[in-house]
Amino acid sequence: MLQPRLRKAEELLRFNPNHYPAGSQRGGQFAPSEQSAGTINVADSSADDITRRKFGSDKDAARSALKHFYETSRRAGAEYGGVIYRGKDGTYGITAPTTEKDGNDLYNSRIRWSDVPAGAQPVASYHTHLRTDDPNADERFSGADGYIARHHGVKSYIATPSGRLKVYDGKTRSEAGLGPL
Ligand SMILES: [Zn+2]
Repeated sequence: MLQPRLRKAEELLRFNPNHYPAGSQRGGQFAPSEQSAGTINVADSSADDITRRKFGSDKDAARSALKHFYETSRRAGAEYGGVIYRGKDGTYGITAPTTEKDGNDLYNSRIRWSDVPAGAQPVASYHTHLRTDDPNADERFSGADGYIARHHGVKSYIATPSGRLKVYDGKTRSEAGLGPL
């Protein structure tokens, strides 16, 4: 039993990471997609007004987003994921997450970098990890999660089934636990 899930991630990474299929394997975060025009339908996305809030740090933004969306994601049985960006005024905001309506499933979520408002800079992604048949993997960043963060030079935040918030920095290639969500 040599880490079957890691092997899956490596198989995924042989493909162009910008074009992961929305398949059943855990691919972690999807790479940027061209499919969004950058509009957010708040009423339709259960985003409420959290996407209009400003935060003092990317960490605060990520924690708030994942707290806000985790339970909905868990009930839907699909990972939810979005972007943390830094605005021109130096504050941080979040984009509404992609959901099962975007093809996300128990193992995969796509990150729509194009949802970031014009003039703002994406600094991180956030996504949920749900309980699967592989509890150890659920608590960790997947190989694809790390690859995407490094590829974009951003951080990646996850909320895990045990209620932890974790960050992986694609620039420094370091990972840290940030305590309870
Ligand atoms: Zn992941």
